[in-house]
Amino acid sequence: MELYNLMENEVLNTIDSIQKEVEIKCQCEKCRLDIAAIALNNLSPKYVVTEKGYLYAKVNNMNYQFNTDVITAVTKAIEMVSENPKHD
Ligand SMILES: [Zn+2]
Repeated sequence: MELYNLMENEVLNTIDSIQKEVEIKCQCEKCRLDIAAIALNNLSPKYVVTEKGYLYAKVNNMNYQFNTDVITAVTKAIEMVSENPKHD
């Protein structure tokens, strides 16, 4: 059994789908994860207890309802990271 924060998946999915509307200046993995970390720190976690393997199927069958809190947090995080990438 393990703990998993469903919000992680929601934030990463939102980053992927929002890219069409909000420009992310740097597309590297570091910036993508920085954006996710900033957004997640501003959102309440959604922890579930899950068995390994089970979660994967569940997450993939979920219908993502992109809620405005997540979109707002991700948009802000994208702006912050685009203005100040944490690398050269
Ligand atoms: Zn980058």
